Amino acid sequence: MQLKIYNSLTAEKEIFKPILEGNVGMYVCGPTVYSNVHLGNVRTFLSFDFIYRTLMHLGYKVRYVRNITDAGHLTDDGNVDNDRFVKQTRLEKLEPMEIVQKYTVDFHKVLDMFNLLPPNIEPTATGHIVEQIELTQKLIDTGFAYESNGSVYFDVLEYNKRGLNYGELSKRNIEELFANTRDLDGQGEKKNPQDFALWKKASPAHIMRWNSPWGEGFPGWHLECTAMSTKYLGETFDIHGGGMDLKFPHHECEIAQGKACNGAAPVHYWMHANMLTMNSQRMSKSTGNYILPMQLVTGENDFFEKSFHPSIVRFCFLQAHYRSVLDISNDAMIASEKGFLRLMEAVKVLNSITPDDNRQSEFSLIEWKKKCYDALTDDFNSPILIAHLFEAVKYIFALNDGKETISTADLEELKSTLNAFIFDVLGLQTVEENNNEKLDQTLKVLIELRNQARKSKNFELSDQIRDKLLAEGIELKDGRDGTSYVLN
Ligand code: AMP
Ligand code: ZN
Repeated sequence: MQLKIYNSLTAEKEIFKPILEGNVGMYVCGPTVYSNVHLGNVRTFLSFDFIYRTLMHLGYKVRYVRNITDAGHLTDDGNVDNDRFVKQTRLEKLEPMEIVQKYTVDFHKVLDMFNLLPPNIEPTATGHIVEQIELTQKLIDTGFAYESNGSVYFDVLEYNKRGLNYGELSKRNIEELFANTRDLDGQGEKKNPQDFALWKKASPAHIMRWNSPWGEGFPGWHLECTAMSTKYLGETFDIHGGGMDLKFPHHECEIAQGKACNGAAPVHYWMHANMLTMNSQRMSKSTGNYILPMQLVTGENDFFEKSFHPSIVRFCFLQAHYRSVLDISNDAMIASEKGFLRLMEAVKVLNSITPDDNRQSEFSLIEWKKKCYDALTDDFNSPILIAHLFEAVKYIFALNDGKETISTADLEELKSTLNAFIFDVLGLQTVEENNNEKLDQTLKVLIELRNQARKSKNFELSDQIRDKLLAEGIELKDGRDGTSYVLN
């Protein structure tokens, strides 16, 4: 079985050859922890969780590193995010690391809800300042970077003069880049507008700052990933992933930094996950077209008619290939729910099938299994894999109806293969039947009892109901249209 991976660098599907046989080093750019992750972010992390699970299922020993951006991105050379961070800090009167902690905890909670496996190493940018200063110094020493007014910039023109090619990943031509960019943020410090910050001088208002040979400042976002991936995976490693929007400039800069530092390409296979859109518009905080993962799960939002179990969301995401744009809408979620429930019903039904060793079946388990693995190893094609799983579902229901037959050995194999695909590789989880509906009904009864208590002025009881529910993480909210609840 040969695994093929679409490499964004070559724009081709290539046969995967790990550097060390049987082992995979994989780095994925993590979240910026200055606000809650939205569902679009979750899609990217979920795509790589599926890839991680598949690699392990195929027998690879994987070291999966996914960082936490708690410094660099907030302090990129554009300073935009940094300003936002400063404002929010004042607004909420929180320490920067308190914000970082709050949203890191939220990030872990959200990913856990969707059954994502934790990476093997989750390094933070603030925990690797020393490594970033060392890399910056190395780039200055080798002539790839220069200091300017307390900041240090990567010299893109110098990089290209030495026969290297800035723009190789995003297929951008450096001359065009120079022609089309105006230097709005370098304040004249840069030699060229395309030069990017490795280290940035901190203004007096800047809260996150460290001492360096160039004065007090903070590291550039691109450098943190180079520092951490090199530290934990080596100067050259197998797979680097992230969302499509990180190709340029972030990953382009990582390639330049890696090549300039070590004289070799840092990554063999660049993988980019495509975007999540909602009602045909890209999900993004800045446009307001976004939904927080919890809002989809509780149903507390203006976009969907009902709530959806996290496993149904996961199933919906995996019904699209990681390189395709995925649009979610109310109809798409309802269709996914139907498919998911049928798949889970088949898993249940399979346990009650009685084998028959005397009759031959039309269904070839060997061929079916091969088709599933072909899909999985063809650049992690989850929608095709799921389509094949539904062939097995059809067979299982035919077995249940007595229209098909299966031998004892095949039954065991079908059970173990199906379970492995559904639970280990796709990472789906069973949903307790009507669990959500039952909880909803129960809470409505409690809300009604509280209303009655209030009407009869029994405030002790009504407050007790509210407080006890709150202690269990269920918050009642009194609004103009009555009382609703939020699961915290
Ligand atoms: P950020 O915290 O902004 O650095 O984003 C974390 C990850 O989410 C990155 O890999 C982004 O590429 C990815 N991302 C951002 N928006 C979307 C979206 N609408 N769909 C899928 N992935 C996204
Ligand atoms: Zn990164």
